[in-house]
Amino acid sequence: MHKYLLVGTSGLTQAEGVHLAYLVASVLFILGLKQLSSPKGARKGNITAAVGMVIALGTGLVGLHPSSTKIILIVAGVAFGLVVGTVSARKVKMTAMPQMVAAFNGVGGGAAALVSVEEYARLIAHSSQAVVFVLTVVFSVVIGCVSFAGSVLAFLKLQELMTGRPVTYPGQQVVNALIVVAILAIAVFLIGFGTSVALVVVLLALALVLGVAFVLPIGGADMPVVISMLNAFTGLAVAATGFVLGNTVLIVGGTLVGASGTLLTKMMGDSMGRSLGNVLFAAVGKVTSSTGASTGEGETRSVRTGTADDIGVMLAYSHKVIIVPGYGLAVAQAQHAARELASALEKRGVEVSYAIHPVAGRMPGHMNVLLAEADVPYEQLKEMDEINDQFKLADAVLVVGANDVVNPSARNSPSSPIYGMPILNADQAKNIVFMKRSMRPGFAGVDNDLMFDPKTIMLFGDAKDSLNKLVAAVKAA
Ligand code: NDP
Repeated sequence: MHKYLLVGTSGLTQAEGVHLAYLVASVLFILGLKQLSSPKGARKGNITAAVGMVIALGTGLVGLHPSSTKIILIVAGVAFGLVVGTVSARKVKMTAMPQMVAAFNGVGGGAAALVSVEEYARLIAHSSQAVVFVLTVVFSVVIGCVSFAGSVLAFLKLQELMTGRPVTYPGQQVVNALIVVAILAIAVFLIGFGTSVALVVVLLALALVLGVAFVLPIGGADMPVVISMLNAFTGLAVAATGFVLGNTVLIVGGTLVGASGTLLTKMMGDSMGRSLGNVLFAAVGKVTSSTGASTGEGETRSVRTGTADDIGVMLAYSHKVIIVPGYGLAVAQAQHAARELASALEKRGVEVSYAIHPVAGRMPGHMNVLLAEADVPYEQLKEMDEINDQFKLADAVLVVGANDVVNPSARNSPSSPIYGMPILNADQAKNIVFMKRSMRPGFAGVDNDLMFDPKTIMLFGDAKDSLNKLVAAVKAA
């Protein structure tokens, strides 16, 4: 006997109602993603997708018996997730966003794996199951656990709770290969030859070890790419769990995450001029004598330093100035000061634009979001391809807390770990003002010859303080 829900004048069975609600939720996820693809629609996109999630969650509860203890557990879980999610999203600093994504992504993968194990144990107790069912359980458990453990490690590295450098040891690839072989052997047994909940649990443990082993040799600088890839893994694990449970919204939602995570990973790799294989297996950022990985100490060449007053005068009498924002601008929260400087210069008739490198900062779109927050007009933000020809016409370029994205070794030095990464042509400007606190290198740990260029003036200090001093100097000029 079907239960009926009343929709308008026509009756829908409960199952049909559930399918309809899942369809609406799926459409809202897709619309939300579409809106997220431009900074203007991003806020709306988040809300649209969140409404889809509320519908999906609410629909999932339909069909559970009201007196069931499961309902209490689920509601408690939803409430806990809501509180943790809201509080951490409100408190997180923009610069710590990648580790928050890692943490949230990891628990998604872990949850998908646990649900699959539970479903396997429940169904296998009554009857043997189809090969496809076991295959999807195995897939979800392995991929979900790799994503969970890898994300935890990525979080620890980015939060500096452990070293951000690649951790390597002799025979590492052999050990990793052995773990993969063991996982494959158990998977083949479970799919083709026998049933065992205990073996599924062993599979789960081995996949956790693989997640750790896989991320250990990857350097902190590459973590955002790894997180994006693990995000895609979580999506696939969730989609597989959707097949296990016969739940369409999990399949659609998981596939969307899997596809968008895969595309994002590729775009980030392309922006850094690196293949995924190089990111995962080259241990970039490892301290060796040949990579030139550096702490900035022990450097004997001298640099030219300047005062804010002198630089302010030089900027005030320029025609064209380009600002290159980077991670340090985000750390110093100097986006408002940057816009103030730009306004002061524009009042004097100077043309100002911002050169946005696709991997400036610590996540894609980092600089766009920061500068939009400071109400920088969108048309002043120029993508790398659009502005790279303009540097040679600029009287001055201000490199504000950026480093790797203007490092000429990416262009000139085949031994550099960032060789091949497309960079902004800041070195072609008539004057280069390098604003940072010390001679320390950027995230990739590579010395930057641009600091030693005869056209470069170093302005040492916190980016916000330095920019405020420049604003005062320009106004006084
Ligand atoms: P970098 O990490 O290369 O350099 C940032 C610079 O900011 C440092 O040299 C630091 O020097 C300076 N800095 C830090 N704090 C302050 C402060 N308070 N005031 C002034 N300066 C400060 O940043 P980029 O943006 O140039 O490059 C991004 C890096 O991140 C690249 O290597 C990129 O590949 C990597 N990455 C980015 C991803 C993304 O999606 N955006 C994804 C994956 C990797 P000092 O300590 O001397 O002040």
